[in-house]
Amino acid sequence: MSPNVITNPLDLRHYTHDLHKRGQRLGFVPTMGALHEGHLTLCRAALEECGNCLVSIFVNPKQFAPHEDFDKYPRTLERDAELLKSIGVQAIFAPGVDVMYPPGFQTSVTVSDISKPLEGEYRPHFFTGVATVVVRLLLLAGADIAYFGEKDYQQLQVIKALQRDLAIPTEIKGVATVREESGLALSSRNAYLSPEQKAIAVQLNKIMADMAADLRDGNSVDAIEYQAQQNLLLAGFEKIDYLTIRDATTLMLPSDTTTAWRVLAAAWLGTTRLIDNMAV
Ligand code: AMP
Repeated sequence: MSPNVITNPLDLRHYTHDLHKRGQRLGFVPTMGALHEGHLTLCRAALEECGNCLVSIFVNPKQFAPHEDFDKYPRTLERDAELLKSIGVQAIFAPGVDVMYPPGFQTSVTVSDISKPLEGEYRPHFFTGVATVVVRLLLLAGADIAYFGEKDYQQLQVIKALQRDLAIPTEIKGVATVREESGLALSSRNAYLSPEQKAIAVQLNKIMADMAADLRDGNSVDAIEYQAQQNLLLAGFEKIDYLTIRDATTLMLPSDTTTAWRVLAAAWLGTTRLIDNMAV
C-alpha cells in the first residue's frame, strides 16, 4: 500500500492519536529526503520495533547558512515515496516551509556544550537549526521512538541531550552507519561527487580505520592526527575541516577520564563537504 502522505500538523496529530488509540506504536524517522539505504535502514528498525513507521521529509532552511547548498540540495519526493512504499512504510510527513515555520515563528532551541566543537565550529548556525526543527518534529509526531543515524554522530548526541533536557516523551535511538562495500558512508550529498571524486572519497574511511588501529596500538593522538591529515590530503582531499580523535561522550580532546574514543572527520572534495565518524 502507498504511504499516507500528510502535509499538516493537525492530520499528523490525528494519525498518531488513532494509532495509539488502537494500542499500536509509532517509530519516527526524520529526514531531508533524497533517500538511500542508510535512511531505509532506520525505517526498517522503526518497522521492526514499533510496527509502524512515519518518515518526515523536510529540507530545513534553518540548518543551512546562506552560502551553503540549500537550493541545490536534491529533492526527489516521488522516488522517495516509491522507496518507502517498497519497504512498507505507512506514512510520510512532507510539510512546506510555511507549515514548519508559520508567520510569527520566533523560537529557537540551542543545545550548549555538545554543539560547540567540530561541526559547531565550522557551521555555527547548524545545530540550532537542527535542534529547533527536531524538537518541533518530535512534538508534532508524538512517536514512541525516533531513529537517528550514527553517521551524524555529533547531531545524535545533540538530539539525545535535547530530548533529555526538555523531557520530550519520545525515546531516541541511534542506528549504525550504513556504508558502501568500499567503506564510503552513504549520504545524499554523495550524489554531488564525480566518479573521480568518489574514488578519492573512499580513502576517508580507510584513513579513519588506520587512526583507530594506531590509537589501539598506543600511538599518541597528536601524531596519529598529523599523519592522517597528511594522508588525506595526499589521497586528493582538497581541504580538511577536522580529522580528529575525541572523547566519544564530550567530543572534547581525550583526557585522563576518557573511557571511549571516536574518530571524527569533515573534509572537502571540490564544493562537496563529507563527514564521517568511527568508534575506536
Ligand atoms: P538526512 O536526510 O541526511 O538529514 O538524514 C536523515 C537521517 O538519516 C539522520 O538521522 C542521519 O544520521 C541518517 N543517515 C544518513 N546517512 C546515513 C547512513 N549512511 N547510515 C545510517 N544513517 C544515516
